[in-house]
Amino acid sequence: SAPASPLGLFDIDDLIDPEDRAIRDTVRRYVDDRLRPEIAGWYEAGTVPARELSAELGRLGVLGMHLEGYGCAGTSATAYGLACMELEAGDSGLRSLVSVQGSLAMFAIWRYGSEEQKQEWLPRMARGEALGCFGLTEPDFGSDPGGMRTRARQEPSGDWVLNGTKMWITNGSVADVAVVWARADDDTDRGTVRGFVVPTDTPGFTAPEIKRKLSLRASVTSELVLEDVRLPASAVLPEARGLSGPLSCLTEARFGIVFGSLGAARDCLESTLAYARERQIFDKPLAAFQLSQAKLADMTLELGKGMLLALHLAGLKEAGTLRNEQVSLGKLNNTREAIAIARQCRTLLGAAGITLEYPALRHANNLESVLTYEGTSEVHQLVIGQALTGESAFR
Ligand code: FAD
Repeated sequence: SAPASPLGLFDIDDLIDPEDRAIRDTVRRYVDDRLRPEIAGWYEAGTVPARELSAELGRLGVLGMHLEGYGCAGTSATAYGLACMELEAGDSGLRSLVSVQGSLAMFAIWRYGSEEQKQEWLPRMARGEALGCFGLTEPDFGSDPGGMRTRARQEPSGDWVLNGTKMWITNGSVADVAVVWARADDDTDRGTVRGFVVPTDTPGFTAPEIKRKLSLRASVTSELVLEDVRLPASAVLPEARGLSGPLSCLTEARFGIVFGSLGAARDCLESTLAYARERQIFDKPLAAFQLSQAKLADMTLELGKGMLLALHLAGLKEAGTLRNEQVSLGKLNNTREAIAIARQCRTLLGAAGITLEYPALRHANNLESVLTYEGTSEVHQLVIGQALTGESAFR
């Protein structure tokens, strides 16, 4: 019989609305036509034409696509997840660009911003004319962002003055606007965490790019340095107070990763399957050996199970009942299985698998970042452990 595709074995498409499938197929075509021919070159060079891509992605309608109003498409959570999946089948760096723009920077302004901030930024960001970044992590505080040292001091004039350093910030050096989280010098004990909308041309703001990465090479990652960055009173996000603000943005982006990581895994598996059918070893196709088939079957199972979990979480999100620990279930499982699939595919490719001619090792290397950002695997284990036991084991 004709060979089946890995997700085809599960008849996954039957679970997806035609409208969501159509959006997915549009993004898939863009990835195939525009990104696939270029991605190995960008990855090797460690550069990506982020601004050019952002304008194209804006025209494609994927920037902030799950948000309502302000020029955003207002699609279903499933459609957003599927778009992330297709983008990450191209490269995790491209999905990161879109996640940071839509789920972190735009979502923060959309959810916590003033009407004026929304009008000023969201339509331009949806069109990809303005790029955003999201500065939470600091050199000394990643998994524990509550320890942040970046400070915001409010002067009698109402102006805010920001000082501090953010680290590992996606899109930092190419952004027009940074959503920066800082502790306000107020009358609370440690200072309330507040969010600020910082145009990146504000004096005192610099964003040196982090080089020599071995992962997410087709993505811009930067440090943000804030030295007496003076902002008007209107720059603060009025509706966000405390760490729950930035953490809620991360939950949004994590949801996209639940789907996205599977896109990388699917791309590895499909390309390896094609290779294994062609490659002759010991006088027959690599795909005809039992050891190969055991690997391919096990990887297909994990991909399909991950997809069922992702679609289930999307259904909960659409119903408005999705809980944080459920997003952790998806992020932990799907990134962990995706990297295992990418590495296993690499073994089937033999020596060819160590080059950029095949996507497996590029995806595996990218997924090292995906395991770490938006809450490391260990942090999600602790979230799930707390939900199961009622005991917090974070500190
Ligand atoms: P640490 O927090 O130092 O963790 C080190 C190790 O300790 C990990 O294995 C971790 O799981 C483990 N650990 C942590 N806490 C516990 C615990 N309680 N118990 C047991 N083990 C624990 N941040 C942003 O704000 N914006 C961005 O746009 C952004 N983009 C990124 C892009 C890339 C490519 C990367 C790699 C990172 C990005 N980050 C971004 C930062 C990312 O969110 C952090 O790297 C992440 O939160 C982990 O923090 P850390 O690197 O400081 O590791």
